[in-house]
Amino acid sequence: MDERYEEETKEKAPLNFLERIIEDDLNNGRVPDNTIVTRFPPEPNGYLHIGHIKSICLNFGLAQKYQGRCHLRLDDTNPEKEDVEYSDSIKRDIRWLGFEWEPYEYHASDYYGQLYEIALQLIKDGKAYVDSLTGEQMKEYRGTLTEPGKNSPDRERSIEENLRLFEEMHAGKHPEGSYVLRAKIDMASPNINMRDPVLYRIKFASHPRTGDTWCIYPMYDFTHPISDAIEGITHSICTLEFEDHRPAYDWATSIDGIEHAPHQYEFARLNINYLVMSKRRLLQLVKLGIVDGWDDPRMPTISGIRRRGYTPESMKDFVSRIGVAKVEGVVDYSLLEFCVREDLNKRAKRLMVVLDPLKLVIDNYPENQVEYFEAVDNPEDPNSAVHQIPFSRELYIEREDFMEVPPKGYHRLYPGNEIRLKYAYYVTATEVVKDEEGNIVEVHCTYDPTSRGGATADNRKVKGTSHWVSASEGVTIEARLYDKLFLTEYPGQKTGNYLDDLNPDSLKVVTDAKAEPEILKAQVGDYLQFIRNGYFCLDNKTGKSELPTFNRTVTLKDSWAKLKQKMGV
Ligand code: ATP
Ligand code: MG
Repeated sequence: MDERYEEETKEKAPLNFLERIIEDDLNNGRVPDNTIVTRFPPEPNGYLHIGHIKSICLNFGLAQKYQGRCHLRLDDTNPEKEDVEYSDSIKRDIRWLGFEWEPYEYHASDYYGQLYEIALQLIKDGKAYVDSLTGEQMKEYRGTLTEPGKNSPDRERSIEENLRLFEEMHAGKHPEGSYVLRAKIDMASPNINMRDPVLYRIKFASHPRTGDTWCIYPMYDFTHPISDAIEGITHSICTLEFEDHRPAYDWATSIDGIEHAPHQYEFARLNINYLVMSKRRLLQLVKLGIVDGWDDPRMPTISGIRRRGYTPESMKDFVSRIGVAKVEGVVDYSLLEFCVREDLNKRAKRLMVVLDPLKLVIDNYPENQVEYFEAVDNPEDPNSAVHQIPFSRELYIEREDFMEVPPKGYHRLYPGNEIRLKYAYYVTATEVVKDEEGNIVEVHCTYDPTSRGGATADNRKVKGTSHWVSASEGVTIEARLYDKLFLTEYPGQKTGNYLDDLNPDSLKVVTDAKAEPEILKAQVGDYLQFIRNGYFCLDNKTGKSELPTFNRTVTLKDSWAKLKQKMGV
């Protein structure tokens, strides 16, 4: 594991409530073999998102901290929604974060045989029955939060009859929806999840792993606790919405014959403003074509943020900063970006790239001459490598770095003003060339040959510094500038439809950005800073564009925070 993460989590001295529970259990001999066993149990029905990172870091992190182990369990109990594409992406994403589960990879479907046997045993013990109520009727019989439920007329069916029907369900003799198997617990329980929960339903669906072997599938509240018990999970950690399911969890793990009794603990899920993080909505964004797949860099999926250029270390830092609690809250998006910037600042290679090019011609510089300036790849790194940047008579600078008629306080280039070209020379603008419509197409200037490297003989000071790219030696790239996918903090809060709050300008594609040639060395997975323009990375999808394509990971500063401040909100 990344050392820094380990150190930072160690530094955060006060234990979180889960660590306190675990240490207490370890100190009091309540943990078999003194080995903590956790699990991360995603359902392979979508790609993992930033919320899952919290759960992954928690489960794998606790196992590491207490020298136990963390299982990966693909919770594949909904054959219709699941897909191997999702399982593969889940594994890729966990490994990207730097965690490993091998050899402890399991699937809930591994336990279908055992679950079936347990169900048969429950029937034989008079603790489960086959019910023929329709879905509608079941709802009626279930009661409400304030009223107890009613027993189903099938509740007293004989054991023999139940066995026969359940075996027939298993053999495919009954259509979907005709019967379910239910636990016989208590229809008057104050907890609705304990009012004879459904254990099995009929589904004539092919399962990605078990194919057509089964036409009855176990429900989550039955499968999950028993899977935990079979695997010897000691601390089963889940999000708060499962708190009400804990009695059902405890019921399942105390079924006769189940030897190991794990415990469930709930923590608050991660919510971040401006993001939607439910798999259902993310799937909808993909299906409606609003984004370019699950790994679109605007998606809060792990594959999306990876493609966008977020680092795994910054994400671990982020979840360690927000901590683990039992109270739901919303984390500010700017904290996420703050963590990304912090990490990238330490590791990104600096390059000069002009996103909105304006030609700058140095009239007194020799034609056809190319000279090189040395640049430190990363000034934050004392051992940084260096690279060479070619300089020539014709350059590009950012259009916003020149104004013909500057407002007061503008220190960049304007006619008569002298600025520094980063790493290179001092130049003074002399003349502006316009097209027929009056747009500036070229700026002419002269340079001071004695200012090589950025200092003059007379120690003249200038206020502005611009980055630049040689017109003859530079390369054209595509830059994809991403912004938030949603404009409001809580998408859909006003209208009830989160799609109403989509940001129409969440992607701006620049197809004629100019970059110093060093950029051609960039590999997928390299972290870059385009000086003054933000952090970028090479897009990991080839063939989208003819040009090398770079995704903007994050701007250098939080422009939204500034904007909010300005507007006084
Ligand atoms: P979603 O609600 O986003 O569709 P899910 O809970 O259905 O997600 P699972 O695949 O069941 O997704 O989740 C696997 C694990 O990740 C579960 O233990 C779940 O509690 C946890 N998890 C999911 N979303 C979050 C979140 N936002 N914050 C923390 N943990 C989460
Ligand atoms: Mg789920």
